[in-house]
Amino acid sequence: MSYPSQPFINGVYRRHSSGKSTQLINPATEEVFASVSSVDHGDVEAAIQGADDAFRKGWRDLAPGRRTEILFNIAKILRENLETIAQWESKSIGKPIADARDEVALGARVFEFYAGAITKFGGQTLPVSRGGFDFTLRQPMGVVAAIVPWNFPFPIACWKVAPALAAGNTVVLKPASVSPLSALVLGELATQAGLPPGVLQVLPGSGSEIGDQLVLHPLVRKISFTGSTEVGRRIMELASRGVKRVSLELGGKSPNIIFADADIDVAAKQAPMSVFGNTGQDCCARSRVFVERKVLDAFVEQFVAVTRQLKIGDPASEETQIGPLVSENQRHSVEALIASASHQSRRIINGGNRPFQKGFYLAPTIILDTDVSDRVWCEEIFGPVVCIRPFDDEAQMIEEVNASPYGLSGSIWTNDIRRALRVARRVESGVLSINSHSSVHVEAPFGGFKQSGLGRDLGMAAMEGYTELKNIYVGE
Ligand code: NAD
Repeated sequence: MSYPSQPFINGVYRRHSSGKSTQLINPATEEVFASVSSVDHGDVEAAIQGADDAFRKGWRDLAPGRRTEILFNIAKILRENLETIAQWESKSIGKPIADARDEVALGARVFEFYAGAITKFGGQTLPVSRGGFDFTLRQPMGVVAAIVPWNFPFPIACWKVAPALAAGNTVVLKPASVSPLSALVLGELATQAGLPPGVLQVLPGSGSEIGDQLVLHPLVRKISFTGSTEVGRRIMELASRGVKRVSLELGGKSPNIIFADADIDVAAKQAPMSVFGNTGQDCCARSRVFVERKVLDAFVEQFVAVTRQLKIGDPASEETQIGPLVSENQRHSVEALIASASHQSRRIINGGNRPFQKGFYLAPTIILDTDVSDRVWCEEIFGPVVCIRPFDDEAQMIEEVNASPYGLSGSIWTNDIRRALRVARRVESGVLSINSHSSVHVEAPFGGFKQSGLGRDLGMAAMEGYTELKNIYVGE
């Protein structure tokens, strides 16, 4: 299969009219390997109109059983093309190939979950006090704009597109400009799997150029966004003009809380990849580590040892655990934050350097002795950087955890189940794991508290989020 290079609209790759394109750069080699046309305002208009037509003229009224079949077919065709999609994803953003394969498989599982959910999701009958008969319907909204980031391009696209389609909506999908290939091929393969033309449109291009049009267009009923808090805030402001539905999955600065009674070996062994995985470009990265003081030295020693063993290098190699950052700009912004810690004489005990001459690589970096006001402690870094601080008192530690404006994810390590549950209840975060670093489960809701967002992806919660709830009363 050759790289797609045009927007996917109404079931075909459409020759672009903007004349603009984005060159895709392999972050491991710094070489251009493909070029994709960017949509202009005319393409966006055509895509939204086409999606609205497809909604009204068939998709919303298609028998649920037929929708189920199509979504299962999409999952199947994704699995058949797993290797191609994974290779493209790996090349586009420098993701280690083994991770890219897992993420394509996750995308297929998401389609399977929502294919099955279609015939198990509905309204209620309600015993209203005046008698008669009352029931609720879950109805699709219409055209959904799904805007996704570059760090997990394929799975995040799937976990918006699949529940939105399952609920009977049509979707206009906008991938990040550096990672459009897997989204475009999703449109093409879904059409081959039986999705009618117009039900899924894919618009590569710059968010700052077409974002406002997508959000403000009167035919777009909901905006489902994953990306930075800054852009999320703008989308929410614009959407308020049309009282549009929004769901926002935004930034994070997640805690990793290690109590002295935890299995320190296990916690320290797993903690490095919980922050350095995907080269730290992970909204759930456990980048603030809180360690009970009496086990601080033992924990740090093991954390550093494990970090030094991580395999950094060519994303195409099966053994690689950590690839390059996505771009030179991203590396600059991470390096600037590390420099801010070094100017404050914080202890940097590993990393901070560029391990290879070519590629946007940056070694995993561990920072100790930070203050709670340091930029590296407070800001989302989105690179391979972790800060580790000791704590003495549980209540004070929870206050520090909750001082962040973010509240997306986090882990608690302890063998005392009462403490684990007590802390889990107090931490202001949408997703938590106890004695684990796993944040994403297809069947469970995923999303943030506070400035990490609103609404939920995944699980049945996502499907609810793509419907309007209607109540119907029948008089006696
Ligand atoms: P970003 O906000 O720069 O871009 C995200 C998407 O929004 C891209 O498709 C981009 O083109 C588009 N966009 C940019 N400006 C826009 C505008 N004005 N209007 C509409 N769309 C616009 O984010 P990014 O750099 O791609 O991703 C990194 C961020 O995403 C981090 O903050 C990370 O924490 C967050 N993220 C959150 C989750 C989550 O589930 N909470 C998951 C992954 C990433």
